[in-house]
Amino acid sequence: MVFLLPSTFYAPSLLKHFFTFVLQMITKTTSGNGITTTRLPVNSFGEKVFHREIMRQYLSESALEGIARWERGKSISSELADEIANALRQWATERGATHYTHWFHPLTGLTAEKHENFYEAIQGKVLSGFNGSELLQQEPDASSFPSGGLRSTFEARGYTAWDPTSPPFIYGRTLCIPSVYISYTGEALDYKTPLLCSIEALNRSALKVVALFYRGVERVYPTLGVEQEFFLIEKSLYERRLDLMLTGRTLIGAPSPRGQQMEDHYFGSIPERVLAFFEELEAEAWRLGIPLKTRHNEVAPAQYECAPIFEDLNVAIDHNQLLMDLIQRTARRHGLEALFHEKPFAGINGSGKHNNWSLATSTGINLLAPGKNTRENLRFFSILSIVLRALYRHADLLRATIATPGNEHRLGGNEAPPSILSVFLGTQVSQAVEALEKVPELPKLPEKTAISLYIPQLPPVLRDNTDRNRTAPFAFTGSKFEFRAVGASAHCAPAMIVLNAAVAESMEEFRERVGAYRENGLSREAAILTVTREFLQESRPIRFDGNSYDPAWHAEAAKRGLSVSFHVPQVLRAYISPSTRELFGRFNILSEVELNARYEVRLERYVKALGIELHTLLEMLRTQVIPIALRYQSEILQLMAMPTFQAWSSALAPEKTPQHHIAETLQTHLEGLWKAIRNAETTWQAIENLPSAEERANWVHEHLRPMMAELRYHADKIEMLLPADYYPLPRYADILFRL
Ligand code: ADP
Ligand code: MG
Repeated sequence: MVFLLPSTFYAPSLLKHFFTFVLQMITKTTSGNGITTTRLPVNSFGEKVFHREIMRQYLSESALEGIARWERGKSISSELADEIANALRQWATERGATHYTHWFHPLTGLTAEKHENFYEAIQGKVLSGFNGSELLQQEPDASSFPSGGLRSTFEARGYTAWDPTSPPFIYGRTLCIPSVYISYTGEALDYKTPLLCSIEALNRSALKVVALFYRGVERVYPTLGVEQEFFLIEKSLYERRLDLMLTGRTLIGAPSPRGQQMEDHYFGSIPERVLAFFEELEAEAWRLGIPLKTRHNEVAPAQYECAPIFEDLNVAIDHNQLLMDLIQRTARRHGLEALFHEKPFAGINGSGKHNNWSLATSTGINLLAPGKNTRENLRFFSILSIVLRALYRHADLLRATIATPGNEHRLGGNEAPPSILSVFLGTQVSQAVEALEKVPELPKLPEKTAISLYIPQLPPVLRDNTDRNRTAPFAFTGSKFEFRAVGASAHCAPAMIVLNAAVAESMEEFRERVGAYRENGLSREAAILTVTREFLQESRPIRFDGNSYDPAWHAEAAKRGLSVSFHVPQVLRAYISPSTRELFGRFNILSEVELNARYEVRLERYVKALGIELHTLLEMLRTQVIPIALRYQSEILQLMAMPTFQAWSSALAPEKTPQHHIAETLQTHLEGLWKAIRNAETTWQAIENLPSAEERANWVHEHLRPMMAELRYHADKIEMLLPADYYPLPRYADILFRL
């Protein structure tokens, strides 16, 4: 897709809805859980956000009218841009900001910023360095970010351009202006550009379906609530582990005798230090307009989670990126380190990011909420069938979005959703869907029923119409879908772009088929029911309510034609499949060139991540583990050479002594390590010489990973033999049970 800059750039039609959201949030309060006495700054919600109320205070009537026209698709004049920039600068500097930056989302998965002073001194005069043109557009170097070959170092130009659908905010002393990032030739170099396109496509397609049920809906927009998991560990311990510092996970480490067996961490009482961290985090998040609502201990020791109330999807993703940065900074102020890696510690739970997704209309209807009357239920089952069919058709692409080196360790572990993409609907919705598949009649969903407790003093407990199933990667949870396979460190956009686009496609096809049946004389309701039924039948293989951890499910899934293997480089191939090209081309989300570039970036990053892991591991082995093992071994050997030892052990054969056993076991693993190190080095050299990113990634997956497992095996055995005061690295038990 090609953008014209700056004035005809993306129409900010979502702006209005977003600001309504912010204002709604301002009036919300949280319910305390009784542990903390510090109050949330309820009145300061959003005080660092340039939201609509603030705009009214800082902009003239005519500027507000200009913005309203802009929202209806008219281009923005340079005078209007200047006035908004002036207002922004005044508002931000009054609140202590000194710099501004376009805040964007390059393909690193992190956000990027280049701070500029609000003022510039030219020939002794101080002038404004922030006017309309700087607000609309900036020019970072495009060659220093991953571009998958779209930009080479001699073609450095790239542009960032203001995304007016996400409001500017003050972070630290910098005014951040959410922006898209594109190349000189107009290709997207970021996550936000295709995300906005997917939201727009979804809106257009969904409106056609929504018109079958309701009048007066001007816009349909996806909503997102992200549950964010992470570990918090003592910073001083983190700093003593090169693997944590450089790769985010422990590359070696023998298991702690106690892990999560007792199931006592989940929802346990939050430790004091962590509570203090959360209080500061929540207060600052609220000032930034991030509506954090929930905090709790997660399943693994030292693992936590927080979640905001859902918002407009684009804003929710900006907020999640910002929140991760805020978590990191706040943790450090408390002497802690936050780990977002998908599997920082072997043998205990990893971390994910549950993406709760739904569709809302501008009239306030949640399209995935089961209804109370026939019309609403018809709408519910139609939209449900559309989402299921979308998932079924593009399951492989959705898997590609979450196929990362970190998730390779997490997914399929005995606590995380498996990498087979299936959807859980829950007994009642499943039964209704199955009935509808058989007979084209609208099924009824039972109302929430009370659970009998036989204790008259207790209030009634209502049963939801879906149960929970922790094992499904994609679950219907009452009024939204929850995609749980997104990694904790991941940017949410890739998965959400695919979901939006896939649903847009099925919306279009739903509407077309309904139209065709109507022409053949079916009533509106009969036509809708018929297509709903067809979509449900078509997508049947992806529905699975059973235990996805059960190994039998793998065989069953394969029989159903679902992808089972999680060979990351091969999973990534979905980015360049004909169906992806067609889907993204149809809605102008990403062109073939852009998709190829993204595929390339993902492969390269996979190889680089594993390369960094390998070299970090080798360094730790050579400079920490092996020298200490040798020192201990030589001490034992010296001891064994002493006359006293020989006198003591004369009754025994020397090889039956514990000294001999320890020295010999160390020797076995040192030899194993040494051999594996040399193998890994040769393999890495061979990988580097392979001609394509695809081959390099395949080799990494197939050859390098087993070697790293072998290195770890020997290193962990050695760790278990070394004296505690010799072993240079903090161990699992020290790290996980410190707080
Ligand atoms: P559950 O316990 O079923 O996961 P929660 O109420 O804890 O549900 O919600 C988890 C996340 O889902 C929260 O961020 C919440 O705001 C979000 N959520 C709830 N409803 C919706 C919706 N309609 N669209 C998107 N996210 C939603
Ligand atoms: Mg949840």
